[in-house]
Amino acid sequence: MATNNEHKLREIRQILGEGFQVKGLADIGCHEEIPETCLTLEGNALQKAHYVADSFGLDCFADDTGLEVEALAGEPGVFTARYGALNGYGAEHDSDANIRCLLDKLKGVRDRGARFRTVIALIQGGEERLFEGVVEGRITTELRGTDGFGYDPVFEPEGTGLTFAEMGHEEKNRISHRALAVRKLIDYLQAL
Ligand code: IMP
Repeated sequence: MATNNEHKLREIRQILGEGFQVKGLADIGCHEEIPETCLTLEGNALQKAHYVADSFGLDCFADDTGLEVEALAGEPGVFTARYGALNGYGAEHDSDANIRCLLDKLKGVRDRGARFRTVIALIQGGEERLFEGVVEGRITTELRGTDGFGYDPVFEPEGTGLTFAEMGHEEKNRISHRALAVRKLIDYLQAL
């Protein structure tokens, strides 16, 4: 998997269980920051997967995830990891800054509908394939829970009454955007 994000690797390994072995970039000796400069999740996932496939000559997959908030016309979307930084709240990839920024933007807003969307790009034998996972939900008004990462304490998936950060990883991995996309990837690979 074309990522150095340990949270993501752990989640993917938990989703897949013991029948699979997933290698991250550190496992193949790649410690570089992979470029992620496109304006769509699909573009970024393909860019990351191609970068590793081209540099290391390996089949691989990469994911890109965005939080799409209805009242913000789909923001932060492709800018999800940098939302706080882009709005003067702190450094890129700083989850506290991202959450503060999001909650400030939604202050007083009643329509709090949002979705997490993951796109996985697979490069196999030079061919590209995309897999998508979506989970609908809402942004809470306050942080709740301590598990997970990123925006988990403020995202409540529909019908659960809990934020991702309040559920155990098993429940999150049953319903999450990333789990849905990963299952599509696995179904595809197992049908080959
Ligand atoms: P990326 O896929 O690493 O580019 O993730 C984009 C942003 O979405 C980062 O700020 C992550 O913290 C956030 N993010 C991705 N997946 C999740 C998740 O499962 N829960 C909460 N935040 C997430």
